[in-house]
Order: sequence, then C-alpha cells, then structure tokens
Amino acid sequence: MRILGIEGTAWAASAALYETETPDSAGDDHVRIETDAYQPDSGGIHPREAAEHMGEAIPQVVETAVGHARERAAADGDPVFDAVAFSRGPGLGPCLRIVATAARAVAQRFDVPLVGVNHMVAHLEVGRQRSGFDSPVCLNASGANAHVLGYRNGRYRVLGETMDTGAGNAIDKFTRHIGWQHPGGPKVEQHARDGDYHPLPYVVKGMDFSFSGVMSAAKQAVDGASGGSAGERGESDGVPVDDVCRGLEETIFGMLTEVSERALSLTGADELVLGGGVGQNERLQGMLGEMCEQRGAQFYAPENRFLRDNAGMIAMLGAKMYAAGDTVAIEDSAIDSNFRPDEVAVTWRGRDPV
Ligand code: ATP
Repeated sequence: MRILGIEGTAWAASAALYETETPDSAGDDHVRIETDAYQPDSGGIHPREAAEHMGEAIPQVVETAVGHARERAAADGDPVFDAVAFSRGPGLGPCLRIVATAARAVAQRFDVPLVGVNHMVAHLEVGRQRSGFDSPVCLNASGANAHVLGYRNGRYRVLGETMDTGAGNAIDKFTRHIGWQHPGGPKVEQHARDGDYHPLPYVVKGMDFSFSGVMSAAKQAVDGASGGSAGERGESDGVPVDDVCRGLEETIFGMLTEVSERALSLTGADELVLGGGVGQNERLQGMLGEMCEQRGAQFYAPENRFLRDNAGMIAMLGAKMYAAGDTVAIEDSAIDSNFRPDEVAVTWRGRDPV
C-alpha cells in the first residue's frame, strides 16, 4: 500500500510517501518525508505569515512526494498511491485550509480516496506503531498542546491535559521575552545543561496541569527586582538565564512526568509512548524513562523526525484508516481547527473489553 500524507497545522509544510511492504525494505515499512519549515523573522508563529508560508511551500513538498510515488509506481506497476491523508486539525485554520485544499486536489487528480487525520492522534499512533506496544498511555507534549491519552472502548480518552497553554508555547513565550529566536525549546535545552535549578511554580491539579504561572515566574526571575527589559542582560539583577532554563525544564517536565505516572497507575498500563515536538528534549525523555523503569513499565520515544510535526505520521495513520475503510468524501472534508483527539472514533484497532 502506498499513501501520500500532507501535514500543515502550523510551522511544518510537509508531505510524505508511506509504503508498506516495499520490495527493497525486507518487509519493513518505508516512509520518506519532505518538510519546509516556517521560521519567523522575529517573535513567535504569526498565523498570517504561517499561512503564507504554507501556501508557498505545500505545492513544492507535495510535488516532490508525488514524484517519489511516481518513481515507485513505475518500478512496481502498482497505482501511484492508494489514498491521500491530510491533517484535518487541530491547528491554525488558515494553514489547515491550504493543506485540505491541496489534499482534495491531489485526491481528485489521482482519483483516490481522501483520509482526514487528527494531528494529535497521529502524534500518538506513530509512537505506538514504531514501538510495537499494544495499548500504551501516550504523553503528547507539543507546541500548542499537552495531554495524556489512554485508549478505552473505541476512543483515545483525554486522561489529563493543560488547563492553559501548550508545553512548547510556554517555553517559547519565555524565550521570546529574553530575545531568543523561535523556537525556544532547543535553546532552553542547551542552556539548562549549564544551569543550576531555580524553583518555579509547580501546578498539577489532579490529572491536569498548568504552564502559564511557571512561564510568568520564569520571566520575572530573569528580569529581577529591577524588572529589567528583555534581551541580552549582562547587568540584570535577575536569576541567571541558564538557571531559569534548568528550572523550567525540571518544573514543566516534572509535571508531565507526574501525570504520566498517575495515568499508568490508574489505567494499569505498563507502556508509555511520547509524542510531539517538545518530546525531542533529552531531559524529558530521561525523566519519563527513569519513571517507567522504576515502576517496571516500558517507555518509547520515536526518532526526532517523527516527534516534531511531520507528514510521515499523517501518512502512517492515514494508511491504517484507509485499510479500515475510514475515508471521507470531499464534500464532508472540512477542517476542524479545534479537533480534539477524543472526538475521533478509532476505526483501525480492535475494541478493548468493556
Ligand atoms: P502541535 O503538535 O501542537 O501542532 P506544534 O505545531 O507547535 O505542535 P511541534 O513540532 O509538535 O509543533 O512542537 C514544536 C514545539 O516543540 C515548539 O514549541 C518548540 O520550542 C518545541 N521544541 C522543539 N525542540 C525542543 C527541545 N529540544 N526541547 C523542548 N522543546 C522543544
């Protein structure tokens, strides 16, 4: 089976060709991803600029992926692809609309079905597929989202989630405040390695958590009593930036680890998978791995190219949905910028006993 995936919820204009059982991959699945990333000149992701980038970049990445598909089809004589999968939401509406338009056009051009994929469920499923785990709890930690999911009776249930901003957005707002270029996550990771832990507010309420307080406290800590301005601040009386970065990591990732552990405990699951761009952070992976080891659970984090936004995960989940007959007619394929993972009827895996 050959599936074209198209992703474009925010910064990544991405297309991928996913093939199952290719002749030259010894039975392994094969995925080839083309991504053109939007990089803001200053500040964070601006929805209008992100949409402009999407409009410019999607035709090129799709054309490249279609070119790969044509080559494969010429070699094996099968159709160019069997279906087109696209990220239907959640994400920025103007970006999603461009991706959906492209997906509809390609599906019509090649006369194949369309598959509308929930982006957050794709973050989860790529980890489940690559780990080989059966029914893991999943922590999705990305820019705009943070939640813990568990499968029960035909749906991924939200066991816990952020009460305000996403994990990555909190980190990015802090780094914008101190004048670092977007995205802030990798820079915080780098600086935290040289820092001493600075305490910040730790907010877990039952299974939910909040990041806006920790983000504000981090800004205040670097500003110091004098309330210094953002930017390079050699003369600031605030806490050293490296220490605040370390505090941010320990606090935010501690909260995510605590709720993930409670989810494992409450569900009785013994497998945890990680999804989302913040999941690329080695300290977060280390904390989750250690927690799982201590309770005898297994932990899996996919490679970075499958953690950050990418069309590979859209194509991979699209393949499962297509095989389950879960396609969508063009007239019903409207995007949903607030598409929650628990709205998705999971058609591609067996039902658990109730
Ligand atoms: P969503 O999946 O919610 O649409 P998104 O569009 O923001 O998320 P992702 O690629 O999943 O895209 O995540 C991007 C986020 O990951 C950014 O906030 C970025 O700062 C953060 N990030 C990237 N690398 C790291 C890292 N090493 N440590 C911490 N955060 C990171």
